[in-house]
Amino acid sequence: MRLSAYLLPTLKENPAEAQIVSHRLMLRAGMVRQHAAGIYNWLPLGLRVLRNIERIVREEQDAAGAQEVLMPTIQSAELWKESGRYDDYGKEMLRITDRHDREMLYGPTHEEVVTDIFRQNVKSYRDMPKMLYQIHWKFRDEVRPRFGVMRGREFLMKDCYSFDMDYAGARASYNRMFVAYLRTFARMGLRAIPMRADPGPIGGDMSHEFIILADTGESGVFCHKSFLEKPIPEAADYGKDLQPIVDDWTGSYTATDEKHDPEADAVKAIGADLVSARGIEVGHIFYFGTKYSKAMNAVVAGPSGEPVTVEMGSYGIGVSRLVAGIIEASHDDAGIIWPESVAPFKVGLINLKTGDAATDGACEGLHSALRRAGVDALYDDRDERAGAKFADMDLIGLPWQVIVGPKGVAKGMVELKCRATGAREEVTAETAVTRLTL
Ligand code: ATP
Ligand code: MG
Repeated sequence: MRLSAYLLPTLKENPAEAQIVSHRLMLRAGMVRQHAAGIYNWLPLGLRVLRNIERIVREEQDAAGAQEVLMPTIQSAELWKESGRYDDYGKEMLRITDRHDREMLYGPTHEEVVTDIFRQNVKSYRDMPKMLYQIHWKFRDEVRPRFGVMRGREFLMKDCYSFDMDYAGARASYNRMFVAYLRTFARMGLRAIPMRADPGPIGGDMSHEFIILADTGESGVFCHKSFLEKPIPEAADYGKDLQPIVDDWTGSYTATDEKHDPEADAVKAIGADLVSARGIEVGHIFYFGTKYSKAMNAVVAGPSGEPVTVEMGSYGIGVSRLVAGIIEASHDDAGIIWPESVAPFKVGLINLKTGDAATDGACEGLHSALRRAGVDALYDDRDERAGAKFADMDLIGLPWQVIVGPKGVAKGMVELKCRATGAREEVTAETAVTRLTL
């Protein structure tokens, strides 16, 4: 991709409306623009990151055995009346009336819709269990949308729902999602710590928020330091009993600052091994038993033909929030530092002297060699000062930069720079391509 043709409206100054670093950097890097309070346009660079995050989430959901569906954003109020939530949900729900005066709403979540899909299409224990997920837009009319896409009104969520015959099955599904979440966030370069969330009247210990640690996170969190090093489970582990892994990840102390009690025995026992940090909620999983299946009559025939009300759980990931979350966890004074797995392009190719035939030629050659090697590159071919090009490239945070100038070209060399470490190395163009292809 040529930067001269790309829609990348970077900003030199910090926008006044942005209070946290990820919001500032997303605006400055030309990733998003606000359309209305808590509602955003995703520009090309931002959308590439969003899609990469989506891809990782999808791969891990699929690996855990969930099947992708796509449900409507606009839902009929009927189902919500059946579940009893229509009146309870309050002002966060955007209610809409269609031309026939039918009550509709923009989905803030999809338990009702997915339960309806299930009850219409699954009738027997032979077709159980099932896990269905989607990656789609939600709308919640938050009182105070803020911090950019971190707390929007319209936001992209992965929501998965499990259906099982009994509690043991529901726990097994919960455990699969638990492991899928650890893997998903780790692949984005994040360490997510599962923290026991308020389970409500049912659910027991089966409700966890996944919180990533970032110095600029919204809430304070406490955990045993062992969480910072625990190995991430392998995908192959899905073939085994996952309970020991989940027990290991839930056995030590964790608490958000509202729940933290410095006087608790568990906290005193940890002593100096207690880590106090900031965190961002990027996922939430919970088991809610027969809450919706009972109200909406989601019943299947058991082995002797007896009706069984299915056990359910739901599992959310804030996909659009993660874009901001990753930036909070990975940036410096110059801008964003993307982990390779989610980077919008792997490489930025900087032409230090656009218009100089030799330099242009070397850049064109590298650009096509990278394309042939299947490496995503953004080529800064603009007629701009070198300083401005360096600043923009550092700001948008591509993992690698290849810097091409007349002096180097004369010797057959280019500079390869790693954004995360700042390390620079002089190499031949061929070596640069080989290194970036690895
Ligand atoms: P929060 O406590 O942050 O308001 P929640 O508990 O209401 O979130 P869930 O219903 O658990 O949210 O939604 C699943 C995930 O969706 C959350 O873990 C979060 O990552 C994301 N999410 C929720 N609300 C928003 C929002 N307004 N903007 C962006 N992402 C959100
Ligand atoms: Mg939550």
